[in-house]
Amino acid sequence: MKPFTGSFTQQEAIGEDAIADAVDVLRSGRLHRYNVAAGETSAVARLEAAYADYQGARYCLACASGGYAMAIALRAAGLEPGAQVLTNAFTLAPVPGAIKAAGGRPVLVETTDDLVVDLGDLERKIKQSKARIFLLSNMRGHLADMEALSALLADHNVTLIEDCAHTMGASWNGKKSGNFGLAGCFSTQTYKHLNSGEGGLLTSDDAMFMARVIMLSGSYMHYGRHGAAPDKTVFETIRFETPNMSGRMDNLRAAILLPQLRRLDENIGRWNKRYQAVAKRLGAVPGIRLPARQPAEQYVGSSIQFSVPDITHDHARAFVAANKALGVDIEWFGADEPEAFTSNYHSWRYLEDQPLPHTDRVLAGLFDMRLPLTFSLEDCDHIASIITYCHEQMRLKGAA
Ligand SMILES: *Cc1c(COP(=O)(O)O)cnc(C)c1O
Repeated sequence: MKPFTGSFTQQEAIGEDAIADAVDVLRSGRLHRYNVAAGETSAVARLEAAYADYQGARYCLACASGGYAMAIALRAAGLEPGAQVLTNAFTLAPVPGAIKAAGGRPVLVETTDDLVVDLGDLERKIKQSKARIFLLSNMRGHLADMEALSALLADHNVTLIEDCAHTMGASWNGKKSGNFGLAGCFSTQTYKHLNSGEGGLLTSDDAMFMARVIMLSGSYMHYGRHGAAPDKTVFETIRFETPNMSGRMDNLRAAILLPQLRRLDENIGRWNKRYQAVAKRLGAVPGIRLPARQPAEQYVGSSIQFSVPDITHDHARAFVAANKALGVDIEWFGADEPEAFTSNYHSWRYLEDQPLPHTDRVLAGLFDMRLPLTFSLEDCDHIASIITYCHEQMRLKGAA
């Protein structure tokens, strides 16, 4: 088997148009979002307007990171110190981290075999806990039945905030991910769908909520210089009551995001071609299971997950190593010690102990792989061949 030599962490270069816009910002010296010349609209304000338009949301705030967006969203939604917040057990470390940052206590909800939140367990935990907010993580781009989820939360009067780090540009039945609850939180960190190194976007249709997150983000009294903010009068009642928790975006990052946003839908098509190329091959391998995708789900295949149900820990480690030896970087969610990133809730030991037997079973056999746009369709085919080969070798040895 010929090894693969591409890099799983290599994103595409920033486009020349974005580089030129970034150089213009540098030449101006006005990098701070509120530092504008007479008559000028800052790049951050233009990004907010453009992203609100893309998302189909009334308001948008650009900020420092996706994790920061979630933390201020929780505060602005009225989270009280020490209050419980529901969230997915299967998610990435910044999600429970944001709940902690906002003073909340995460209550984890089980995941299904298809990697979405288990609505039965969600209902149980809504009843058992005192949580009034659900921070839904659309982890790895998998969307739960959003109509059923919304109905359940409405029945129990629970506020929804969506973590859309992996669903920027995705939809459920034509409605964009991020538009189902009070707010959508997005990340523009390098491994997401837009790349400014670090960055976050927060959208909502709620004027008072948006006024609060804008104040929290550290707007001083410059909320009039925002690109997609509510009317100034909305700020009157809260502007002295809302603390400044600085986490602004700067014009340099906004300048490189604007041209990328114009190409986002085209890139989603390119990601999905890569995803489908790998999924078609792996889906045909006996012993490998792909999470089901619902017809209502318009996903963004920027990464792929598959499981080898009932694989032992030793075999899982050997399988990852065999792929690695042939140049294919797959991550395993079942490892006892986190490597590179942490998506196993057992690594978040600052949380209260909460048994999640089904999630444990899912994570024990779950693998993940990035699909950067620097990979060609031939690369995807090559990678799928290597994974299939390593799986077959493992099967011949009597495992899985
Ligand atoms: C990346 C990520 C975030 C937010 O990331 P930041 O690095 O804070 O921008 C949130 N949720 C998930 C699931 C993520 O993968």
